Amino acid sequence: MVDEDGVLSPGQMGEFSLISRFFKNQALTKPSTHLGIGDDCALLSVPEGFDLAVTTDTMVENVHFFAGADAKQLGHKLLAVNLSDLASMGARPLSVTLALTLPKADENWLAAFSQGLLGLAGRHSVDLVGGDTTCGPLTLTVQALGLVPHGKALKRSAAKVGDFIYMTGVLGDAGLGLKIKQGYPCASPDQALQRFNQPDPQVDAGVALLDVANACIDLSDGLAGDLGHILEQSQVGASLVYESLPLSNAVRTYINDTGDWAMPLTAGDDYELCFTVSPEKADQLSINCTKIGVIEAAPGLRLYKSGIIQPLITKSYEHFS
Ligand code: ADP
Ligand code: MG
Repeated sequence: MVDEDGVLSPGQMGEFSLISRFFKNQALTKPSTHLGIGDDCALLSVPEGFDLAVTTDTMVENVHFFAGADAKQLGHKLLAVNLSDLASMGARPLSVTLALTLPKADENWLAAFSQGLLGLAGRHSVDLVGGDTTCGPLTLTVQALGLVPHGKALKRSAAKVGDFIYMTGVLGDAGLGLKIKQGYPCASPDQALQRFNQPDPQVDAGVALLDVANACIDLSDGLAGDLGHILEQSQVGASLVYESLPLSNAVRTYINDTGDWAMPLTAGDDYELCFTVSPEKADQLSINCTKIGVIEAAPGLRLYKSGIIQPLITKSYEHFS
């Protein structure tokens, strides 16, 4: 029995019927998946010649998303942020597990959430092979597994002095989406909101960068901070040219209106890839991307705006700080 809000009363849908109703029906597509949902573990095999790339990301209500956020968009975004981590290493996604902590078994919420998550999973042929379901404050976790040819994964630590710096897509749309949610009056908000709510993980781009890029990272916390991770781990520095950053018309209008020119560099959630390529390999790039700077020996990140170096806070968002 379901009440008017679609919330099942206690005892109506327990943990196990919830799992089989909303998560177990997805067809398993990968030959490497030998056993999916239903036993104590899933069983997978890693084909010869590949490394298994493993990542996990959690989204907590009131930390990563607003209370009452659209459940279908949450399901999409939870998977997208994990696939984006695989993409940044050049790994092709294989399968995922899903740990759900829910305050209640709300049938409408679960139907929408699973639609968002399994819809994106289907588009990338990702098998949902297991998980955990518990009652508590709304917390959503995916662990994603992917395959990358042995020894070929793109690491943060592999940038070389002289590499050009590139990024896919446009910068700051998701940051603008957040500003719109917080009340900024944008005349054409659709693209920014779409990119904030339902980012598109750059899986094909990541795979296409294998054997071409040196270092790569996905833009989750803002370009300045994320590129900062590459610089730190590669023990190099960089110069960026502000005028070369790919910005949408809506973001350009926001900057003209507010003067907040740093927003695209510091706002997170874009889930584009930022990567470095040696000049000799630049003509091997087969994906749409924009050159935004160059790796240099002198440590630190220098941003040139109108030819003048601007101070830039490169610290990403950190929990507990
Ligand atoms: P166990 O008690 O052995 O941890 P569970 O009872 O938690 O197993 O889960 C039963 C089965 O359902 C397992 O195969 C588990 O991987 C799967 N499962 C549990 N929750 C989810 C979920 N949210 N999404 C997908 N699979 C799930
Ligand atoms: Mg369990």
